[in-house]
Amino acid sequence: MSDASLHHLVHPDNATELDAAIRSGLHCLTDQLTAVTRPATGRSPMDAALPVAGVDLDRPLPDLEAALAEVTQLWLRDAVWFHHPSYAAHLNCPVVIPTLVAEQLLTAVNSSMDTFDQSVGATYMERHLIDWTARRIGFGPGADGVFTSGGSQSNLQALVLARAHAAARGLPPERMRILASADSHFSVGKSAHVMGLPAGAVVPVPVGADRRMDVAELARLVRQVEEWGDQPMAVVATAGTTDFGAIDPVADVADVARTAGAWLHVDAAYGGGLLTSRRHRHRLSGVELADSVTVDYHKTFFQPVSSSAILVQDRQALRAVTWHADYLNPADSMNPNQVDKSLQTTRRFDALKLWMTLRVMGPDAIGDYLDAVIDLTEEVHAAISGWEDLELAAPPQLSTIVFRYAPPDTSERALAQLNTAIRHELYARGTAVVAATTVEGRQFLKLTLLNPAATREDVLSIVRNVLSVGRELSRDRHPATVGGAR
Ligand SMILES: *Cc1c(COP(=O)(O)O)cnc(C)c1O
Repeated sequence: MSDASLHHLVHPDNATELDAAIRSGLHCLTDQLTAVTRPATGRSPMDAALPVAGVDLDRPLPDLEAALAEVTQLWLRDAVWFHHPSYAAHLNCPVVIPTLVAEQLLTAVNSSMDTFDQSVGATYMERHLIDWTARRIGFGPGADGVFTSGGSQSNLQALVLARAHAAARGLPPERMRILASADSHFSVGKSAHVMGLPAGAVVPVPVGADRRMDVAELARLVRQVEEWGDQPMAVVATAGTTDFGAIDPVADVADVARTAGAWLHVDAAYGGGLLTSRRHRHRLSGVELADSVTVDYHKTFFQPVSSSAILVQDRQALRAVTWHADYLNPADSMNPNQVDKSLQTTRRFDALKLWMTLRVMGPDAIGDYLDAVIDLTEEVHAAISGWEDLELAAPPQLSTIVFRYAPPDTSERALAQLNTAIRHELYARGTAVVAATTVEGRQFLKLTLLNPAATREDVLSIVRNVLSVGRELSRDRHPATVGGAR
């Protein structure tokens, strides 16, 4: 091979090229970042698809600069920016700087976490972070866990462990039931489906007006499941529901789960960041009673995608996913092989991002960021309560506000159309990015606030824009009745 073609490799001979390439990428990023004035430019799927389809992947561009220019056209220029104060849609966070440095290192070295002989110190750094998280949860020395690609993956693994636990008690798969709040994450239902559990295996437990699981209903449903000859295989408590941020009463849920002999999983994908909060940690009390816990660092720990973990109270439980290959992790291996605890094999050293964050910023800084968005959410909610034509679905619990534009005497159908149209219009104009959800079949909008740099005024202006676009659209729809009663 010619020397010229080898200069693309991360290799000591190419240190100068590497340095220059990284700088080019970095400049491309900072140029964009400093030029961003809107959370989105409003590209439609068709406008986004067309230029991509025209790229001939068999014909490379002359150089890196050209490739960066192309990527800027195809993606960066129209990206949705989570650091922008008018981005308030999903559980995406602006990321902290130490993670970018980590990202570069872990990608260049390309350690793989499956076996010690591909990762060395990284294995122990990941384990140290798992131990740190487990201690913050309140688990004892028998705890363990592993990093995963996300909350859905963590929930799937938790339910796989729960099934193994139930199978060990002699429970037949067709009798296994999972009880989770009606507001639990969809990955619970999806996991049951891909695990081959019967349709209807997930029994939704009603929530109260505060959107938290109704524990009396849970107890009643457990009895009902048992009366039908089925058995609760797992109870899933959510610590921070995706729409309302509601934290189920974990300690009470744990009582019911224990009595029923069920595995208790706490899905703290959203609320997990409270583990670092000095002011709100108590909201997670009871989480230490769980058999397994999902934590998404890429939500409330301000980490880039992907970074998540599943933690278990008793490390023996992880044996349910242990499988041996002679070439990789033979049963008699004396090495600490993380693959023995994971559904994945080759796996990124994502843990380095959290490591760098904790070592540079410390956990309190993360907790303070989260506290700031919780405060912001409460302030905004208080400020907009009572605003004309605005309906709030429930008081905020973490950092979401579920609301809608609701002028009087408007049918449910019209409200649904109107609010959907508002959301699309805000995106198309690049004014703001907000999410949508339904509450008991009624269409609402949702703000998810995860940007500690956003101010009360920033968020209030999103709400004002929702209302003003709503009024514009209502006028367009009913031109004859402007100002009049409808
Ligand atoms: C986001 C979320 C998940 C899924 O996490 P991913 O990282 O998107 O896979 C699971 N549960 C809850 C409550 C969530 O908010």
